[in-house]
Amino acid sequence: MYTTALVRLSSPLQFLKGVGPTLAEKLKAKGLETVEDLLFYPPFRYEDRSRYVPFRQIREGQSGAVLAMVASTRTRTWRKGAQILFEADLQDEQGNRLQARWYNAKYLASEIVPGLRLALFGKAEFDFQAGKIFLAHPDFEVLPEGGDPELAMDMGRIVPVYETVGKISTKQMRRFVMRALEVVGELEDALPVDIMRRFRMPQLAKAVAEVHEPPVDMNLDSLNNRRSPGHWRLIFEEFFWLEFGLLRKQLEVKRTPGIAFELNEQIRDKVKQMLPFKPTSAQKRALKEIAMDMAAPHPMNRLLQGDVGSGKTLVAAEAAVIAIENGYQVAMLAPTELLAMQHFLSLQRFFKRLGYPVAVMVGSQSAREKTQIKKLVAEGLVKLVVGTHALLEKNVEFQKLGLAIIDEQHRFGVLQRLFLRQKGLTPDVLVMTATPIPRTLALTIYGDLDVSVIDELPPGRIGIQTKHFAQSASKTVWELVRKELQQGRQAYIIYPLVDDSEHSPDLKSAQKMFEMHAEKIFPEFRVALMHGQLPAAEKDLVMQRFKKHEVDVLVSTTVVEVGLDVPNASVMVIEHAEKFGLSQLHQLRGRVGRGIHSSHCYLVTGRQNEVSEQRIRAMVESSDGFRLAEADLEIRGPGEFFGTRQSGVPQLRFAHILKDREILEMARGEARSFLDKESGTSQMSSAEQYLEQNWQRRYGLVQVG
Ligand code: ADP
Ligand code: MG
Repeated sequence: MYTTALVRLSSPLQFLKGVGPTLAEKLKAKGLETVEDLLFYPPFRYEDRSRYVPFRQIREGQSGAVLAMVASTRTRTWRKGAQILFEADLQDEQGNRLQARWYNAKYLASEIVPGLRLALFGKAEFDFQAGKIFLAHPDFEVLPEGGDPELAMDMGRIVPVYETVGKISTKQMRRFVMRALEVVGELEDALPVDIMRRFRMPQLAKAVAEVHEPPVDMNLDSLNNRRSPGHWRLIFEEFFWLEFGLLRKQLEVKRTPGIAFELNEQIRDKVKQMLPFKPTSAQKRALKEIAMDMAAPHPMNRLLQGDVGSGKTLVAAEAAVIAIENGYQVAMLAPTELLAMQHFLSLQRFFKRLGYPVAVMVGSQSAREKTQIKKLVAEGLVKLVVGTHALLEKNVEFQKLGLAIIDEQHRFGVLQRLFLRQKGLTPDVLVMTATPIPRTLALTIYGDLDVSVIDELPPGRIGIQTKHFAQSASKTVWELVRKELQQGRQAYIIYPLVDDSEHSPDLKSAQKMFEMHAEKIFPEFRVALMHGQLPAAEKDLVMQRFKKHEVDVLVSTTVVEVGLDVPNASVMVIEHAEKFGLSQLHQLRGRVGRGIHSSHCYLVTGRQNEVSEQRIRAMVESSDGFRLAEADLEIRGPGEFFGTRQSGVPQLRFAHILKDREILEMARGEARSFLDKESGTSQMSSAEQYLEQNWQRRYGLVQVG
């Protein structure tokens, strides 16, 4: 048995009356394990059930709360007996009548009986046959005989609505939250007092109570917009601790001893010697920021953001020269074998003049080959090694790892970042990403990383024209492609599926369409097929042939998405473009427009929905990665945009990184000045203590890295 005194924030939910092992299991699946989780589980909307309205005032399409007496009830069959309808004729205090109907709810016949007094909340719909309105599937509560309607739990007040969890209804959730509020002891108020005072924030306990059981006079809109005083405080607080933690982390990193790479004339000359072309001013700026970090005696933790084609690899290569000239080794991690191979080839080319030995390590290499490379790496004979996950294997050891470069941050867990780092003597880390996110957001989300941005494309790019076609116009599209091919250009044609075995009869596959293209559509050109299921050696071969222009048309799945660099390819067709996400479309499109030729991207769509239309429109209107990233964030929301917890993005409860941006910036500012002003005071140490106790649990993996 439980007693009230034993219930703490950290108590498992089973401590609550009514929550048994089965329910606890279901709640857990939603991430709700403790009483605290439940108290910080935000309602997603509110209903105003504070005033009971007489039947006469109810209009079609409106929702409202009513008090009524059950006059009579009946069960009817519906749709030739397939469905059962339960009806209750209700009477209000004025003696007016209104019917309530519940579908598939035979069980209600024993619950709702004539003579009962009910409080109901529901939406009025119009019955055309009967020519009058009725309440459709209303929520209801039976009132005690002669009892006070005030006693209704879900009526007579502003009622929170929770996302349902498995089979647990919002009503049950409401009960559990109420119980949690009743039994839990005090809630510790950890926010620094003067910040609370300055912003006139309610106490934590009050804020939590307010969002779950808002007082009747609270403004409904402010609740639904998540801007009631309680909401504001909870959102602010969440951001405050996040920012406070991240800023402290940054300070800590700045204090950790790291490698201070030397930067002298000789090394600058080496960098210049390596350069195959003149860097853009954005590349120069990024390198400068990186070089300064590398020269500093603490570990670099920098994110290099740049749109596809902006030339991140070159900047990475420059950083590598600095490390290698200082006698260190460099590791470069890529998300796929294809990309690892490509980076390997580019870097080999860049470094030829400098004579650095470069190696590549990927999963598909033979054990013997890998052993050989591992040996060279361990002995320090290889200066730079590019690789996939294979590089992260435990037995890969570096003689002297000084710089780790990670391409496409998204695809690697932060833990792996850490793992890699432990192999050296706190090496510098450079993370490259082509998913541009607004700078302030980047600072916040990758708060432990400094950010450099390449916001300029190499010169001479003529840009990419993007057009949208319906499937019925594909003949036109093939003619446009043919024109490019006739001028000696190359084309990509992208499909969502590898072959027809994937059980999507209305989607075209690369395999099937490859045959069509080779035999029927472009018989006069050299067509090749590429997809992820090909053996690595074959993928490699196809890629080489396309690069050498031994292939004109590459029919492919999204394996070409990241990084592939063939400047002569000037046209891309994406079939079933409606099936792809916005950042994926943008990444794909980035495969063209990499040379001196004006380029085209044709998005061909089948049946669209509203969201896919939004995406296609965004693609046609803009080729600016930052703009598209913002659009994408808005279409998808941050959760999906940033991927899972793996990506290291905090799981926030009340706060929303996009919608609450203004509060976020405020919280960041407050956290910064708190750190500046209160350093060494008792306020600071209690804040730090609170953070220590809560950080790992609340913000999970963010701390690693
Ligand atoms: P991304 O940022 O997508 O990784 P890459 O590093 O692959 O871009 O560069 C895209 C292309 O632009 C490559 O062919 C690269 O050689 C070329 N490039 C990079 N920087 C310059 C520059 N400053 N001037 C001319 N071409 C450049
Ligand atoms: Mg790249």
